[in-house]
Amino acid sequence: MSRARNNSKLVTQNSKLERLVPLLLDWFARNARDLPWRRTRDPYAVWVSEIMLQQTQVKTVLPYWQRWMRELPTVSDLAKAKSEKIHKLWEGLGYYTRVRNLQKAARVIVEKHGGRFPEEFDDVFALPGIGRYTAGAICSIAFDQPRPILDGNVIRVLTRIFGIAENPRERKANTLLWQSAGRLVLHATRVTRHEASCAHPASRTTHHASACSRLNQSLMELGALVCTPRSPGCEACPAKRICAAFRENRAGQLPNLGPRVAATPRRFIAFVVERNGRLLVRQRPVGVVNAQLWEFPNVEVSASGADARQAALLALGMSSKRIEPLCTIRHSITRYRITLEAHRIRLRKPPARRAGVWLAPPRLKSLAFTGAHKKILERLAVNFKLQA
Ligand code: SF4
Repeated sequence: MSRARNNSKLVTQNSKLERLVPLLLDWFARNARDLPWRRTRDPYAVWVSEIMLQQTQVKTVLPYWQRWMRELPTVSDLAKAKSEKIHKLWEGLGYYTRVRNLQKAARVIVEKHGGRFPEEFDDVFALPGIGRYTAGAICSIAFDQPRPILDGNVIRVLTRIFGIAENPRERKANTLLWQSAGRLVLHATRVTRHEASCAHPASRTTHHASACSRLNQSLMELGALVCTPRSPGCEACPAKRICAAFRENRAGQLPNLGPRVAATPRRFIAFVVERNGRLLVRQRPVGVVNAQLWEFPNVEVSASGADARQAALLALGMSSKRIEPLCTIRHSITRYRITLEAHRIRLRKPPARRAGVWLAPPRLKSLAFTGAHKKILERLAVNFKLQA
């Protein structure tokens, strides 16, 4: 089938879209997970959950979201919070630009909207760190607006149900997917009979939510729980009777995301330098990955080249015969596979190069460390009984 015919097939599949809406709403009423951010329509709480959930699994986000809402329950609390505090609350979630953008956006809401979360889609979309997906999620969940969403989960569900073989990152297929998601959420506003008819106990957590909210969340939930990347649970899927991928046994081939980018290995050597009961740490500068987070002095080296003594010269401007291996941390960030070799050095005099600040171990507890260096800190607490 030609690409043009394939696409026009999607555009004209209105009846399939209409059949899909009640299937999704019924399934969601019975299967939605009881998540704390689903018990509220506070746009601030929804926004925080959506930003945390980007690139991060629900079970990881749960304690972070609960702690965040306890510590910073309103937009103005976030706008006023110290940078150290928001980074500490985010520590371990990764992709720290997200937390800095959250605060930037909170300050815009305070200055431009008097501290009240804007309801207009364009105002929400204009906030720092909020893309089309997040603006659609907030407007549909918090304000019952028929705004579509399209993330990885929704792309997977829709490309499979409609049998879309084109790469969804390419403009034409992407536009068609947004249009389909838009039709689905619009149609959900017309399906009112589900508002009152869901008697299943599991529907308690979603029953208060609007049709737009439930439809969008049902797509996300189906992608997360049933239509998973590998081994989708087609037999239990509410859409299996209308799903092209199921009918044609093509779920494993969709979505067609093109060739994978190979992972790039990187090797770093870090030093836990102790002097007079204090440890040497430094804060990463603005404008780099993991900006403003803390770490031990370290240097990137070639995969097999430099040893710890050479690395100490580069990182600290000194070397020592008494460098003890501490641990090796393996860590992934985006497409990088990082190996971090940590060593311990005890000094009487400060190193020649100014490589950070000297802090007592209990002080380190209040700082936000990068994911890999937090693991070093945890290892120190175990191995050397440092109360970090
Ligand atoms: Fe995904 Fe299978 Fe459901 Fe189709 S039938 S939407 S492939 S889980």
